[in-house]
Amino acid sequence: MTIVESNATGRAVGGPGLPQRRHLVTEIPGPKSRALLERKSSAVARGVGITLPVFTDVAGGGVLVDVDGNSFIDFGTGIAVTGIGNAAPAVVAAVQEQVERFTHTCFMITGYDSYVGVAEALNRLTPGDHDKRTALFNTGAEAVENAVKIARSYTGRQAVIAFDHAYHGRTNLTMALTAKAMPYKSGFGPFAPEIYRAPLSYPFRDGLDGPAAAKKAIAVIEKQVGASSTAAIIIEPIQGEGGFIVPAPGFLTTLQEWATANGVVFIADEVQTGFARTGRMFASEHEGLVPDLVVTAKGIAGGLPLSAVTGRAEIMDAPHVGGLGGTYGGNPLACAAALAAIDSYENDGLLERAREIETLMLSRLRELQASDPRIGDVRGRGAMIAVEIVDPVTGEPDAALTSKIAAGSHANGVILLTCGTYGNVIRFLPPLSISDDLLHDGLDVVRQALEAA
Ligand SMILES: *Cc1c(COP(=O)(O)O)cnc(C)c1O
Repeated sequence: MTIVESNATGRAVGGPGLPQRRHLVTEIPGPKSRALLERKSSAVARGVGITLPVFTDVAGGGVLVDVDGNSFIDFGTGIAVTGIGNAAPAVVAAVQEQVERFTHTCFMITGYDSYVGVAEALNRLTPGDHDKRTALFNTGAEAVENAVKIARSYTGRQAVIAFDHAYHGRTNLTMALTAKAMPYKSGFGPFAPEIYRAPLSYPFRDGLDGPAAAKKAIAVIEKQVGASSTAAIIIEPIQGEGGFIVPAPGFLTTLQEWATANGVVFIADEVQTGFARTGRMFASEHEGLVPDLVVTAKGIAGGLPLSAVTGRAEIMDAPHVGGLGGTYGGNPLACAAALAAIDSYENDGLLERAREIETLMLSRLRELQASDPRIGDVRGRGAMIAVEIVDPVTGEPDAALTSKIAAGSHANGVILLTCGTYGNVIRFLPPLSISDDLLHDGLDVVRQALEAA
């Protein structure tokens, strides 16, 4: 039985028209995925791992259908990318229209209006009503690197402060900013110099209020680096790969006040938290934070590779003409997709939908926590929710149990990701286009996996 629709040419199509249900027709992985896995092992570098050993046929709404016809509930969205749903019709139409006109010029050679349109949209939507400028790139890591370039150019200083549990990417500079050695850094040094690490607010583990945690971080910066040497602080308003850690209220704002008072550029890495994911367009807004620079990527373009740095005009305009750019940055297909995706975030009720998802998931997971002491913490905002799995007696992180829960969920048709410095956090990143029925069904599968583990 096939559950996939096809278009006029007989090709399978994804998008929200797919039957929205979890439905397994083979063991996981099925025979076609197993054959592709074998080809992958002989053709693709081992370092490129794969979380779920299945290969995708089509995806949309809240499901992903593999090449064997198994329909999975998508709690991963390709790591917080397809927030508006995979193959969202508006994105598909915008890309199709653009691909027939031109595919590339390099914006640094001849311009096109969609690049400017994306910049205008980001200048309007990011926190603060000051004069802003934007530059576009391809990946989150590339945008983070450029934010650091811009901050150094503006301040004439070199040191950059990152935090415990931080994740900012896998290029050389961003590996240095990223906290976790395995798998991101081990064996890949030497790393870029002038990167320093400060302690984070981690309410479940440090018990500190936000201002107290910020004072600790500021003391480290002042004693070990010196404010007058510091170009920038870079921080995720909610830690992503580090474990969906929501800092205690007042942590981010206290850090920002210190940065402003000391001429230090405050960079919010909103690559994972951006674009309605947390129930606001940007997570900084939950605390009224107005970063000097905001880095975005992932959710920006419905699955096409695009990233951006947006911020105060005087900071963004510090680098000389020709100092920023790249061959593909702000590719026309990605910009067309971004304009469609941003329109959807703004006009399709997705902020409200993210808050509904938060309410549903937090209440179900807290109910589970009340009856299962292995769930140490339930946290997150919007459609960015996590549970931290611990030993009920010692409170120590339990990474082995976390892996079992993920594997059990995968085997029963739910795409589920883990994260956290200690590997003991299960994270939920559903698309905002998912139905309540699928959310409940997916959470039932996770509960059963926890009970069986
Ligand atoms: C994913 C991520 C990055 C890196 O983005 P890539 O597109 O993978 O380079 C940077 N920062 C945060 C917070 C991320 O979640």
